Amino acid sequence: MELDYLIIGQGIAGTILSHTFIQNGKKVMVVDNGKKHISSRIAAGIFNPITGRKMVKTWYGDHLFPFFHQFYPEFENFLDCSFFHQLKVYHPFDTQEKQNDWLAAMGEPKFQDYVGGFEDGKEYQGIVKGDFGGMKVHQAGYVDISLMLDEYRKWLDKNNFLIAEEFSEREMSFEEDFIQWKDFSAKKVIFCDGTGSTKSSFFHWLPFRPVKGELLVVKLASEPICEIISRGCWVLPVGNGLYKVGATYDHSELNFSPSEKGRMILEERLQALLKIPYEIVDQKAGVRPATYDRRPFIGIHPENPKIGIFNGLGAKGISLAPYFANMFYNHLEKNDSLIMEVDIKRVLKKYFYHK
Ligand SMILES: Cc1cc2nc3c(=O)[nH]c(=O)nc-3n(C[C@H](O)[C@H](O)[C@H](O)COP(=O)(O)OP(=O)(O)OC[C@H]3O[C@@H](n4cnc5c(N)ncnc54)[C@H](O)[C@@H]3O)c2cc1C
Repeated sequence: MELDYLIIGQGIAGTILSHTFIQNGKKVMVVDNGKKHISSRIAAGIFNPITGRKMVKTWYGDHLFPFFHQFYPEFENFLDCSFFHQLKVYHPFDTQEKQNDWLAAMGEPKFQDYVGGFEDGKEYQGIVKGDFGGMKVHQAGYVDISLMLDEYRKWLDKNNFLIAEEFSEREMSFEEDFIQWKDFSAKKVIFCDGTGSTKSSFFHWLPFRPVKGELLVVKLASEPICEIISRGCWVLPVGNGLYKVGATYDHSELNFSPSEKGRMILEERLQALLKIPYEIVDQKAGVRPATYDRRPFIGIHPENPKIGIFNGLGAKGISLAPYFANMFYNHLEKNDSLIMEVDIKRVLKKYFYHK
């Protein structure tokens, strides 16, 4: 079978890239080994334009947010299911200084599309610790990633666009105009294999910096909370009285095992945020495919134009993937440029590329 693209991996990256290609009329096959312990299935799926301890605007947010606010509802229609949930994020202030800083910053044009006015905190009086009020961030929410991946996988399978098995680079042979893999001849093979790329013979030289993350699933002894609450950690309502609490960042222990250390960090942060009792019902861990400069790795291999990569989505796969999948498509099919901040060319000079 002749293909335009053979895509390796069906996490967030492979799902959104392959959907973008198929929507543009390309002949695609997705190869995925079906592992359940992948970053995309652990992730909470939150998108939030203002994040981090210093509460700064998400990098490239003014491009990413309008794009995916259109992309996900269209993808829901395409798959005929609902996984895109828009929720505000309530940020309670913990000091007078924080309150003052944000009262001054709220009026700045760069925050206008994302930040509401000052909240006196009465709404969350019995729930959240702190007497300094807070603010609400708009255009935020979460994607139920497992549901999105499961539904898309079913669609791929039904349309014979999925090979559910392990892919091995050794099984590829390079012909003049295509790559042969099993019965398929593809013009290009694109790796969307998450942390798998760190061991790839094509891309091991890219400076990935994977980071383990853990989250808790808890029940709260309160009336239902309908917004994300965030300070030190986030508390995300996911239905049935359950909330996800996350997330940790650990560069040292890169495995999928929930740890005592992770639980203690998250419990400490949760107790600093909420007044109410909670019960832990689950704990999850995953490894984010993050990079040395916290920007994605996208592009074509420097010596092999038939091999590409769409990876390095780090802690923000949900926000980054739709916009940059579209940019990568335009790069491959229309010769448009990738922005240098995501193009793997940026690291060629910095980290020598060795065969
Ligand atoms: C605790 C935690 C919380 C997070 N919270 C958020 C959040 O709230 N919002 C957000 O946007 N992001 C979040 N993330 C980050 C998010 O998970 C990543 O950005 C995203 O999952 C990366 O997706 P990916 O498709 O690149 O990689 P992966 O999810 O790792 O997918 C790679 C896929 O390729 C397959 N594969 C790999 N090798 C092979 C092979 N040889 N053959 C066949 N198949 C193969 C794998 O099985 C998998 O299906 C979180 C991560 C963690 C760990």
